[in-house]
Amino acid sequence: MPHLADDLSALLGPDRVSILDADLAAHATDKWFASSTPQVVVHAQCAQDVVQTLRYASTNGIPVTPQGARVGYVGGCVPARGGIALSLLRMNRILEVNPADGIAVVEPGVITADLQQAARAQGWFYPPDPASLKECSLGGNIATNAGGPRCLKYGVTRHYVLGLEAVLADGSILTAGGRCHKNKTGFDLVGLMVGSEGMLGIVTQATLRLIPHPPTRAMLSAGFRSFAEVAEAVQRILNSGFLPSALEIADKFTLRAAREYLGESVTPQGDAHLLVEIDGHEDSVKNELALLVRLIRSLGCLELEEALGETACERFWKLRREFSYSLRNTGLIKLNEDIVVPRSRLVDLVDFAEQLQQQHGFPVACFGHAGDGNIHVNIMVPTMDDPPIRARAEAALDELFRQIIAWGGAITGEHGVGIAKARWWHEAVPPSTHQTHIHLKTALDPQGILNPGKFLG
Ligand SMILES: Cc1cc2nc3c(=O)[nH]c(=O)nc-3n(C[C@H](O)[C@H](O)[C@H](O)COP(=O)(O)OP(=O)(O)OC[C@H]3O[C@@H](n4cnc5c(N)ncnc54)[C@H](O)[C@@H]3O)c2cc1C
Repeated sequence: MPHLADDLSALLGPDRVSILDADLAAHATDKWFASSTPQVVVHAQCAQDVVQTLRYASTNGIPVTPQGARVGYVGGCVPARGGIALSLLRMNRILEVNPADGIAVVEPGVITADLQQAARAQGWFYPPDPASLKECSLGGNIATNAGGPRCLKYGVTRHYVLGLEAVLADGSILTAGGRCHKNKTGFDLVGLMVGSEGMLGIVTQATLRLIPHPPTRAMLSAGFRSFAEVAEAVQRILNSGFLPSALEIADKFTLRAAREYLGESVTPQGDAHLLVEIDGHEDSVKNELALLVRLIRSLGCLELEEALGETACERFWKLRREFSYSLRNTGLIKLNEDIVVPRSRLVDLVDFAEQLQQQHGFPVACFGHAGDGNIHVNIMVPTMDDPPIRARAEAALDELFRQIIAWGGAITGEHGVGIAKARWWHEAVPPSTHQTHIHLKTALDPQGILNPGKFLG
């Protein structure tokens, strides 16, 4: 495609088109292991740039891969078939934060934490909180239906998208939903676009739901003897009428790595850790905290610490974030799989992870969002560059995913399918679900130019 960059420069202006080696290399990959260099990078600055790019691409049959901040975990924004990498990061304006309507209107390149701060400055809250929130874009969050610890109480990205503007493969603009918090006019096209991993349309604007910011937060951090005890604690908390904003657990391997990295004194005692967060008005938070302390003590925890207020809670979240770095500090590579199991399977999952460890010789660390059964299972491998080791790691992953599917779980709760999980796609969904995906894809993108080379081929 020798004229591709010249044609696009003529259409959009040279400042929006790049074929610099460094730019092409940077836009070839995300945080996963796949890499594929695009022919050209387009840095869209407005919806019309996206429209023009897609009109040109559909006329000439050129693949287009939308990209946000490229911190995905499944190779979703990797331009697997080359062509155009279409970056939305320059479209980063927060167009409106409107407490009266409980909405924000944003461009797709806004970084998630920036919107949270802008809403917070007016006493409002945008709850979806992927751990990558200081780096990832709202467009990427929408395309992957991102989640995080607070989704137990507040829901995932889908629950906050009221309206969307998206450019379809032929360059036409779809407007779906709007500023209303309820809207049942026609099919749920917003829901169709959310989580579509850049394969049905390119999000150029979103109207997001904001809710009042809870004035106070409190947290509990508890060490337990065993994972079975911590899993029981999760069930007891929920069965006792509490709906925490977060309910996180970590296993023995994770805690051992944390002890090595952070030291004994900072890391909770025992072989399993529980973190509970609640929020609301100060009086009710204090009352609820006291009740939770009583409940968790009665379950036989080894130690229990409390935190009230933002600063004190941040100390516990810092510890939770350090778990990831502690695992990295082992010198091993983390194959982080965001699987989901029905919550009653948490103990089975950790037992199965131990079995995998013994069978394949790789340590396996489990931690994550226990409240919704979304546990990050990290298979720790020395390298992915050595073919025999990679083959062993993939065999372990095959077993993990087979078991998850057999339990009625999901192969991804947050990160998406992308390239990383494409090989389990057909096992994960029934043929009718796959066929419906193909019908929708064919209707909206008949030439298959939008983000090809992923789980639909
Ligand atoms: C340290 C770390 C922690 C993480 N923690 C979490 C977590 O807690 N929860 C979670 O859900 N994820 C998490 N992730 C994964 C990742 O951050 C999310 O998937 C995030 O939503 C990706 O956003 P992005 O802007 O980087 O998107 P990209 O990686 O650039 O793209 C992701 C997908 O979205 C598509 N896309 C991007 N922008 C658009 C657009 N405007 N229109 C249409 N399609 C588009 C791409 O084609 C691709 O398929 C984590 C990643 C890292 C590195």
